[in-house]
Amino acid sequence: MGMIIYGTKTLTKFKGYFGDKEECPCCHKTYKKAYVKYTTWFHLDEIPLFPVKSTYYKMCPICGDSIEVNGKQAKSEMISIEEAETQQLETYAKHILANKPKGIMSVDTSYEFWVKDMVTNEEICIATNLDKDTVKRMKKERGLKNFKIINI
Ligand SMILES: [Zn+2]
Repeated sequence: MGMIIYGTKTLTKFKGYFGDKEECPCCHKTYKKAYVKYTTWFHLDEIPLFPVKSTYYKMCPICGDSIEVNGKQAKSEMISIEEAETQQLETYAKHILANKPKGIMSVDTSYEFWVKDMVTNEEICIATNLDKDTVKRMKKERGLKNFKIINI
């Protein structure tokens, strides 16, 4: 008889950029905030059965600094206004192969996390010397699905 494993797992989903552009108190970049939905599912043997909690994070799309907002508040703020000015950001990691450690047992911390403003072409480095798990965690925090790691 196999062991039944149950518990909760949190899934994240990027919902879009909303509101006015505001300067971030941490990185001082001025962008619309990203809204990311966090849903905690009860799961049994790795199969999500039903959601137990959902909440939103209103996040600086550059450095990831965020505050938690409840669903009601998030939904009232997540209203798209048609405007000429668009915000298009691409988030990705770079894997600096030249810095990759040689030993098998050593942790590869040669990843960097980047955001590129597709309108201005500005490329912003968020963090360096990361391992792959940290990159995955940062990607998850931002609710990103399509995410590329560029080998350099
Ligand atoms: Zn920021």
